[in-house]
Amino acid sequence: MSKTEKLREKINEIIRAEESWEAVGQTPMPRVTDLRNWDFRLMKTYRPFYAPFCDLCCLCNFGKCDLTQDRKGACGIDMATQQARMILIACLMGAAAHGAHGRHLIEHLIEKHGEDYPLVLGDQVNVEAPIIRTVLGLKPQTLGDLRKAVEYVEREFIHLVAATHTGQEGSNLDYESKAFHCGMLDHVALEACDLAQITGFNYPTSVVETPLVELGWGTIDRTKPVILLVGHNAAAANSMTDYLRKNNLLDQVELAGICCTALDATRYNAGAKVVGPLAQQRFFLKTGLADVIVTDEQCVLTDIPALAGETGAALIAWSDKICYGLDNVTEKETDEIVKMIVAGEKKQVLVLDSDKAAEVAVKVALALAPARKKFILSPAQAVEIAGRCREKCEKCHQNCANLLPVGTAVSRAGEGDLEPLAKLFRKCVGCGKCEEVCDFNLPILKLMAAAASAEKYKVRVGRGPIHDVEIRKVGSPIVLGTIPGVVLFAGCSNYPDIGDVAWMAEELARRKYIVCLSGCAAMAAGMYKDAEGRTIYEKYPPSFDAGGVLNVGSCVSNAHVVGAAIKIANIFANLPSRANYELIADYILNRVGACAVVWGPYSQKALAIGTGAIRWGIPLLLGPHGAKYRRLFMSKKEYDDWTVIDGRTEQLVDTREPTPEHMAIVVETRERALLTIIKLCMRRNDTAPGRAIKLHQYISVYKEHLGTLPDDLQNFVRTERDAPLVYKKEVLAYLNEVGWQPKPTLSLPTIIGTYETKVPVSATVK
Ligand code: SF4
Ligand code: SF4
Ligand code: SF4
Repeated sequence: MSKTEKLREKINEIIRAEESWEAVGQTPMPRVTDLRNWDFRLMKTYRPFYAPFCDLCCLCNFGKCDLTQDRKGACGIDMATQQARMILIACLMGAAAHGAHGRHLIEHLIEKHGEDYPLVLGDQVNVEAPIIRTVLGLKPQTLGDLRKAVEYVEREFIHLVAATHTGQEGSNLDYESKAFHCGMLDHVALEACDLAQITGFNYPTSVVETPLVELGWGTIDRTKPVILLVGHNAAAANSMTDYLRKNNLLDQVELAGICCTALDATRYNAGAKVVGPLAQQRFFLKTGLADVIVTDEQCVLTDIPALAGETGAALIAWSDKICYGLDNVTEKETDEIVKMIVAGEKKQVLVLDSDKAAEVAVKVALALAPARKKFILSPAQAVEIAGRCREKCEKCHQNCANLLPVGTAVSRAGEGDLEPLAKLFRKCVGCGKCEEVCDFNLPILKLMAAAASAEKYKVRVGRGPIHDVEIRKVGSPIVLGTIPGVVLFAGCSNYPDIGDVAWMAEELARRKYIVCLSGCAAMAAGMYKDAEGRTIYEKYPPSFDAGGVLNVGSCVSNAHVVGAAIKIANIFANLPSRANYELIADYILNRVGACAVVWGPYSQKALAIGTGAIRWGIPLLLGPHGAKYRRLFMSKKEYDDWTVIDGRTEQLVDTREPTPEHMAIVVETRERALLTIIKLCMRRNDTAPGRAIKLHQYISVYKEHLGTLPDDLQNFVRTERDAPLVYKKEVLAYLNEVGWQPKPTLSLPTIIGTYETKVPVSATVK
């Protein structure tokens, strides 16, 4: 038996190849180079564009090496390859964070329920794990099967990490292919993690209308003991809910959270509260409203011990990812730890057991809260303190990550006008850099907190997977283009303005796009109210249908939106997904009008998620800070190769139409983002009525914000039938003026067969 046959036999055993739900496709559990040809084909049209964030490399002791002006490093690496290596390293960090989170939760839940515990996703979800099915070829049935998925991710990881060592890969395209592989692994980990917690914690699934829960600082009842949860892993938060329930204390303690732990805590306990997204972490910690701070993992401020010390809150860290140098008291009895903290002997401890940490947190909060004085600066106090500002120094402004006019706002507050500070609050990312440089030690973040009213909002509890029945209903209109697109707002809150996500989401929902949100973006979308005081979640239906606005859940729930695109290919179009990565990704690229948006990108996790989306054929739009990721994938529009194969005739056809136009792009403003999202949802497969609907949206938004017809209309109108009725005369006149020529339209476009692949073109037609 050859080496390859032996490997295949091993894989067949892991994925139970003998199960007959679908025949095993070409790439079960793909290894690092198995999808390399697909990646290279994508990059033939969408070339990597680098914007180095740093010109030097200092990764090994030959260096540091200056890579500017076509110089090479001592190891021979050039600038493009070094940038791509850094991207792979960042993707590995992000995917490792999700993978380790998934690994922890799966082991935690296996310990509670056993590895044969069945995955139960309710009667609306039969295709339980579209990503794991497509990538691994495995149909997971138990928690133990999810462990297999994470073990596959771990196996691939060691090779990817090895490739980043000095003197390994020498091609930027190969590094990008490895980054795509890492992004794909990230999605496997996301799906495994969320399915484990949905099934193990009994989170909502197969339900469209999940409850609305409270969001914002104003919702925190400071007369009660307050426990603040920070991070992404809700194991301890859910254990706290169990303890509070068991002891009839649920309505006597405030469980509030920041970032995804908060969202996941509400999937278990709709009484838990969401303080806000990541960007509000430092603000809220500084208010001192929390009696106990409980940290888990990912995106947690690294100076929380100092912040907790400033406000006198107790701190319990329970994840091995974040130990803060604290004493490990895990082996001590629960009551002994509580006594130690309450007596002030050790107010900050490491308890590496989520259940024990949960019980300690509740007992400490109950004991400490009565003696603590919790208040936010009053507006009058804020005015008095701000009076010490010397606006002319402007140090805060110069040091601000978003170049906000901090000094002017503080000095205006000193004169009694708090409005500029309140406005600043919505644009501030809470980094604290302004405070650090103020020679007068003005507590700028506290002043902003006092100026911004303690608003109360709503966010819908994360609903998990998109239902198979919903896919059957919308599959056809999405593929034909009559539902103009599916847009996922994912990721972090490094926004130019926190109101942007709600604005874009609403603009799209009212134009009948399907809007999905997750993580910090899901919270930010809820932090805006209309004149009648309603948030977006109260105005739009929560179904996966035209005009729906869905919170799928936390960061790991992003998997369900990619999963929905896969399900459209698998359930609606009947394409076999099992170990058929290229077939499914090709379908999404050419026929599913989906687009991912990371408007406030900052983390390596968001880069991994976005890079994974691109490999699936889903274009990525990044907000202004996205340029710091260093790399985009852009086409040269009409000058590039837009040749596809017509699945019916198997003939090559030059479509001359740049859709999707780019696979990763940065834009500066929310208006430009809206226009770009609309374009990125166009697909070659759009029918004439579908394309006319998409172009109608494009033209109307363009006219609204720029006052004219779009100057690239000729790229997207294929025949006169594509021109939207309302603008037909104007559009045809414009096309005539620029010398437009009709383009071919295809009902079964595919790039399978335009590069070397084992997948036959005939497989794309069902
Ligand atoms: S890895 Fe290469 S470019 Fe980087 S410091 Fe070492 S020799 Fe220089
Ligand atoms: S905390 Fe806000 S205002 Fe201060 S520097 Fe950071 S972004 Fe700017
Ligand atoms: S650095 Fe301090 S004193 Fe200077 S403008 Fe800013 S807030 Fe005022």
